[in-house]
Amino acid sequence: PLDCPICDQGGECQLQDLAVGYGSSNSRYAEPKRVVANKELGPLVSAEEMTRCIHCTRCVRFGQEIAGTMELGMAGRGEHSEIMPFVARTVDSELSGNMIDVCPVGALTSKPFRYSARTWELARRKSVSPHDSLGSNLVVQVKGEKVMRVLPLENEQINECWLSDRDRFSYEGLHSPQRLTRPMIKRDGNWQETDWPTALEFVNRELRRVRDTHGAAAIGALAAPNATLEEMFLLGKLTRGLGSHHVDFRLRQADFSGTGDLRGIPWLGMKVADIAGLDRVLLVGTTLRKEQPLLAVRFRQAARKGAQMSLVNPVDDDLLMPVSAKSIVAPSVMPATLGGVLKALAQIQGAPVPTMAAELEVDENALLIARSLAGGQKRAIFLGNLACHHPRSADLHRLAQEIARLCGATLGFFGDAANSVGGYLAGALPGPAGLHAAAMVAQPRKAYLLLHADIDLDGGDAAAARAAMQAAELVVAMTAFKHGALDYAQVLLPVSPFTETAGSFVSAEGRLQSFQGVVRPHMETRPAWKVLRVLGNLLEIKGFDQEDVEAVRGECLGAAGDIVSRLNNAIGGTVGNLSAATTGAPERIGEIPIYHTDVLVRHANSLQQTRDARVGVVHLPGSLIEKLGLGQADRVRIVQNGAEVVLPVQRDDRLPANCVRVPGACRETAALGPLFGTLALERVISQEKAVA
Ligand code: SF4
Repeated sequence: PLDCPICDQGGECQLQDLAVGYGSSNSRYAEPKRVVANKELGPLVSAEEMTRCIHCTRCVRFGQEIAGTMELGMAGRGEHSEIMPFVARTVDSELSGNMIDVCPVGALTSKPFRYSARTWELARRKSVSPHDSLGSNLVVQVKGEKVMRVLPLENEQINECWLSDRDRFSYEGLHSPQRLTRPMIKRDGNWQETDWPTALEFVNRELRRVRDTHGAAAIGALAAPNATLEEMFLLGKLTRGLGSHHVDFRLRQADFSGTGDLRGIPWLGMKVADIAGLDRVLLVGTTLRKEQPLLAVRFRQAARKGAQMSLVNPVDDDLLMPVSAKSIVAPSVMPATLGGVLKALAQIQGAPVPTMAAELEVDENALLIARSLAGGQKRAIFLGNLACHHPRSADLHRLAQEIARLCGATLGFFGDAANSVGGYLAGALPGPAGLHAAAMVAQPRKAYLLLHADIDLDGGDAAAARAAMQAAELVVAMTAFKHGALDYAQVLLPVSPFTETAGSFVSAEGRLQSFQGVVRPHMETRPAWKVLRVLGNLLEIKGFDQEDVEAVRGECLGAAGDIVSRLNNAIGGTVGNLSAATTGAPERIGEIPIYHTDVLVRHANSLQQTRDARVGVVHLPGSLIEKLGLGQADRVRIVQNGAEVVLPVQRDDRLPANCVRVPGACRETAALGPLFGTLALERVISQEKAVA
């Protein structure tokens, strides 16, 4: 019977629906009802009403079969059965929110959402996730003009019926007190709110002044790789209209030496849905589960069907699937390791060993990886973000291409963000006459236009990026948040996050997905494509008279040509020296933590309370801890290119010798330089010891 009127699952409870459809109007159950103790599962999933649990064990099976880890289990027998996490553990999977969806009753609910709205009060609007490059389809639920909840929109070709926690809970960032609500101009060192006409006129006047004083080449533009296709297109057009070719969106890329050798736009190399059908996979340089939580599900499906997974990586994170062979090596050794795999594969196949790999030693792991790749029918090699941010990413690409050629594998890239492919199509690229993102920072410009980028966290070299911004005469930050730009910008223009603008993303598999804004822009916020259009007109640049976003998209895609024909992972050029010459100094492994990838996620409150968001520690292997004489309570001073930070130490014996895992994209390490490179480490004696 419908005797559950206070339950927050009301209106979306499968048990309630069944009871309404088939149940009787009163209950024959007269015995006292049992009560089940609430459970603490962490900041995302609420298990505060476990009395409602009907023991269907869907949440348990989701962990076992999809997420790859059984974080919940059923303990006890009969009346004493209870769903519970393992002793004193929380649910920390990057896919945990899906348990809320599969729970047919209100036992597991969304902690950030619960008791904030009734399901029948919410309007449902379609959207596309702006985070990883999968392009997960979303249902954004809206009450009035406020985003209340995000759920998966089923799409078998992309996210199936799942959603990563990053896609599901990042909407909380939209309500952050750090939202920029009105344009701001810095006058005499003080930030003042202003109106749009004043702010745009200021930008117009200052950009003209910089161009007239220093020349157009003194202007550079940097877009975050999750800006929309239309925004990036207009930013490129505006920059070129000003007379500069310095525009880029590949903010974390360090090695641009292979740019001219690319034959097309780097992409996944296949359809997302085809990943589950692979039977031999080599992953190079990736924190797979954290970079691509739902692609990891596809790889897990392949592994469950018997696919052999191999890994060449600087970190040995648990992929929660069987891995048949792996080579966990320092970043500087990764090219030589791939060279070893290439040599072993050539020898197995009786093919001539490519010259660049001829002198290399083939170790046991390389041999196992090569043997795995030599078998099977459907093979693929993927380069993840650690490979793409690597200082020798072009060589890793060329080596992976050679391995793929030898064994007949498909080569693919995961891509940094929602529009990593779209950025190429939009032409947000410098071309031969311009400076790429890293060069724009290394050779500072007098003026920068920033689009959705908090450049010292979104750039590959935080210290250099901030120094370049601080030295510039003009930094125009088009952003939804007041963040680090307050320190270095002269003007902040509040532009819409993905929920408040229409636009398009092109996913890693080359799928163009357009979406509408789901709510009106917050306060004085305006869609960035409109801001760029007005700026183009104020600056008297031709071609900024588009009536709507569809016209911008049409112009962009008309200029870009057929998307599919432009996707190509081939690269030319020759591989550099593979005999690794290391200085012996510890090496940084600068990963981008899952809940720090972009500015919206970094403002999402509940995600920031998860275990994965705790980034203020440095991971060292035991051998390095002993070498430095570090104790439990000690901290370590990390010095990179003259900049330093002090962080507590955590031991991780799965790291390669002499490697230090220091995350990027977070305030704790933003004083440091590039994501990869050598470091100096020094013990900082703990205060208690110093007092003693
Ligand atoms: Fe209980 Fe919900 Fe898990 Fe089913 S999915 S066992 S009802 S907590």
